[in-house]
Amino acid sequence: MATNILVADEDTHFFGDVCKNFDYAAQFTKHDAGLLDQIKSCNSVYRFRFPIRRGNGFEVIDAWRVEHSHHQSPTKGGIRYSEMVNEDEVMALAALMTYKCAIVNVPFGGAKGGIKINPKNYTVSELENITRRYTVELIKKNFIGPSIDVPAPDYGSGEREMSWIADTYATMNPGQLDAMGAVTGKPIALHGIAGRREATGRGVAIAIRECVSFGEDMQKIGLLPGLAGKKVIVQGLGNVGYYSAKFLAEFGALIVGLCEFEGAIYNEDGLDIEAVFQHRKATGSILGYAGAKKEFKNTMEGLEQPCDILVPAALENQITEDNIRNIQAKIIAEGANGPTSPEAEAIFYANGGIIIPDMYANAGGVTVSYFEWLKNLSHVAFGRMNRRFEENSNLNLVNMVEGITGTSLTPMQRSTIIKGASELELVNSGLEDTMIRSYHEIRETYKSNPAIGTLRSAAMVGAINKIAVSYQNLGIWP
Ligand code: GLU
Repeated sequence: MATNILVADEDTHFFGDVCKNFDYAAQFTKHDAGLLDQIKSCNSVYRFRFPIRRGNGFEVIDAWRVEHSHHQSPTKGGIRYSEMVNEDEVMALAALMTYKCAIVNVPFGGAKGGIKINPKNYTVSELENITRRYTVELIKKNFIGPSIDVPAPDYGSGEREMSWIADTYATMNPGQLDAMGAVTGKPIALHGIAGRREATGRGVAIAIRECVSFGEDMQKIGLLPGLAGKKVIVQGLGNVGYYSAKFLAEFGALIVGLCEFEGAIYNEDGLDIEAVFQHRKATGSILGYAGAKKEFKNTMEGLEQPCDILVPAALENQITEDNIRNIQAKIIAEGANGPTSPEAEAIFYANGGIIIPDMYANAGGVTVSYFEWLKNLSHVAFGRMNRRFEENSNLNLVNMVEGITGTSLTPMQRSTIIKGASELELVNSGLEDTMIRSYHEIRETYKSNPAIGTLRSAAMVGAINKIAVSYQNLGIWP
C-alpha cells in the first residue's frame, strides 16, 4: 500500500546521496583525489537563528545559507521556505546547484538557502519581517551580493520574497550601482526579466521533448519517438509543475494525471491544466474536478497510474525502493530536486526506464536567472538597443527581394519576417538553446561508456570535468 510521502523526511541523507552519485561519476574522470574532494565538499555552511515578534511574544527562526563551491563567482541558488528544511537538505541542494550550473554552462558556483517555516502559517507582514531579517543576516556575514552570492526563489518563495530581498539589500548598500543583481526571480517591474517565472517548467518540457526525439533511445525503452500523444503524470502544481504541464501540453503531450498534497486525479483522455488550476484555486483542492475520471485521496497512488512519462515536480525523496516498482512510466523527468532515491533509480534503469536528472531537467530556472543577472549588471533590457534596427534592416531586405522578384508577401508573412526579437523571445531562445545543447552533451557522455549507466552519472561526469577546468584555470590544481 502506497504511503503519503509528499513531505520530505528529516533523515533523508540527501547530501550523502548527491555525494554517492559524485563518487560514482568521478571514477570516469581522471582528476586528482584532492581536487575531487574539493569539488565535492560544501565550502561554507552558515547556520543562524534570529527572533521575530509574533503575537504578544517572539519566535526564533532557524535559517541557513550554504555556499557549496566558489570555483566561479558569484554563487547562486534559491531560498527554500519550508518547515521540513534542515542542514543536510540545504547542503545537498547547494551541491546540486553547483553541478546544475556547470551542466548548463552558467558561470556560477552553487548555493542554497533555507528558512525553517511553513509560510502558510504566517501573515504577509510576518513573512516580510522574516525575509528582510534573513537578508540582513546574510549581509552581515557577506553571504549576499551581485558578485558574492545571489539568491532566487525556491520551494515556498517567489517574486514577492525576492523583491523584499532586493529592497533590503539596496537599502543597506546605498549607491551600489549593481544592487539589483544581488537577487534574481524579481518581479518584472522591479528589474526582473520576462520569462523567469515559467523558465523552470519550460526547461523541463524542452528537456523531455529533446529526450523523446531520439528514435534509437526510445526504441530501447519501448516508446515511439516524439512527444505527440505521450501520456504524462505531473506531481506538484506549484510553479515548476504547473508550467511543465502547460508547456508539455503545448508541445503535444497528453497530461493524464496530476498529484498534489490533498490527492491525485487521473483521466487517460487528458486533463485541462488551466481548468484544474482554476478549480484548485477556487476550492483549495484538485479533488472534485469534474473532468477527472479517477480520484485518489492518497497522492502517491496518482504516481502509479498508467503513463509514459512521470514528472515529479514537488519535493525530494518521493520515488523510493518502496514505490518504484509500481511506477508505470518509462521516463521520469525530475522537475523537483532529488525526487528519486539512488536505489529506486537503479531499479528503474534495470527495468528498462530512463531518468532525466534534476540537475539538468530543472536547470531552466537558473539559466534564466543568469540572463536576469546579466540584465541587472548591464542596466538595459535585452532587445532594447537592437530591436528597431533589426526591424528596419529586415524591412529593407523584404522590400528589396519583393522588388527584384516582383512578388509580394502577405501582411502576415511580412510581419513575421520583419519583427525584431523582444526580451521574452530572446530569453526563451537562449533557454531552448541551453537545454538542447546540454542534453546532447549529456547523451554523448552517456553513450560513450555503458558503465556510466545513467543520464545522472553522465551529467555529473560532465559537471566534474568542467568544474575541474575552472580550478585548473584558477591555478589551484595542475
Ligand atoms: N531554486 C531554483 C533551482 O533550484 C532556481 C535557482 C536560481 O535561479 O538561482 O534551480
